[in-house]
Amino acid sequence: MTHRILVLPGDGIGPEIVAEAVRILELLRAEFGLAVEIEEGKVGGAAYEAAGSPLPEETLRLARAADAVLLGAVGGPRWEGLARELRPERGLLGLRAELGLFANLRPALLYPQLAAASSLRPEIVAGLDLMIVRELTGGIYFGTPRGVRDEGGVRTAYNTMVYSEAEIERIGRVAFETARRRSGRLCSVDKANVLEVSELWREVLTALAAEFPDVTLSHLYVDNAAMQLVRAPKQFDVIVTGNLFGDILSDQAAMLTGSIGMLPSASLDAHGKGMYEPIHGSAPDIAGRGTANPLATILSVAMLLRHSLGEEEAAARVERAVGAALDQGLRTPDIAAPGTRAAGTREMGAAVAAALRAQAR
Ligand code: NAD
Repeated sequence: MTHRILVLPGDGIGPEIVAEAVRILELLRAEFGLAVEIEEGKVGGAAYEAAGSPLPEETLRLARAADAVLLGAVGGPRWEGLARELRPERGLLGLRAELGLFANLRPALLYPQLAAASSLRPEIVAGLDLMIVRELTGGIYFGTPRGVRDEGGVRTAYNTMVYSEAEIERIGRVAFETARRRSGRLCSVDKANVLEVSELWREVLTALAAEFPDVTLSHLYVDNAAMQLVRAPKQFDVIVTGNLFGDILSDQAAMLTGSIGMLPSASLDAHGKGMYEPIHGSAPDIAGRGTANPLATILSVAMLLRHSLGEEEAAARVERAVGAALDQGLRTPDIAAPGTRAAGTREMGAAVAAALRAQAR
């Protein structure tokens, strides 16, 4: 069976970093027999320029037909003045909503070669490898009623945090399955001492644990989780949490690794289809210079292979090739030590490709 992959380079550094990721996919096809068909589409500012919409109907059609989507990044100063519904970010949110991508997987992995890049002491973060599973389509970001009203001459704003049992169970299952594939430890983060939503969250997660006897479930309040993440982050393996807490904790965890240019992410639907993208944005400040770090996008390919295509071996190969390129001492400017020579986007991509090719021999 041939897997269909839709590639959406997007804006800013998107096209530069996605080109290196596609090079890896093509190499896997040519030398390791990976059965993939790669199509390209437009999203974000690039799509607005070409078709007047950040998410053209054609892109949506291709995304629906694909087994997985690989995205670069969207956005840039050029489109900031546009009406909200025409802005590049709408393309991304539209794709998430239209494809029903409710489970956001955000690994925070610190390659031992880069331990000095973290703002924490190397012994606290060296070898860090944790996964945050964030609910992406519910919670306070989407709950109604929401708005601003006038209460006796005083403007008052309100949002609603809401999760149904079904929504909690759905993300819970993804988290338990993820923990099962890793070390078997899952920590659920909530605020059950204050919020009814969190009480239900905790109840549903605890009930679900009976179906996963091989996974050990623990619970933490979100304030404690934030402290523990900087005190002793290696105590965690998989963390599951709602949309709001996950938004904050996943960025905090990303910073532990020192470079956002290294971290991939996945957003999955209920059937294994997913959209894969680096966690960083379109970096307009360095776009077109050929200096962007392509590794987060290449590692997004590894996640795509693992989670949507079931190609675990190919995923592990890509991750090993990234490790090998770092072992050779190659560093893009964002991860290079001051005063050392930095590699460009293409040089880094070529080194990963060469390390991958070497595994074929
Ligand atoms: P950003 O992540 O684009 O950049 C933050 C900093 O990190 C910049 O200094 C940038 O040069 C650097 N950086 C980012 N990726 C890098 C890489 N691969 N290699 C080396 N350095 C890298 O965030 P921002 O500057 O706040 O946003 C820029 C644009 O991106 C905005 O339009 C924003 O809306 C958009 N954005 C898009 C996404 C997405 O597409 N998922 C996510 C965040 C921001």
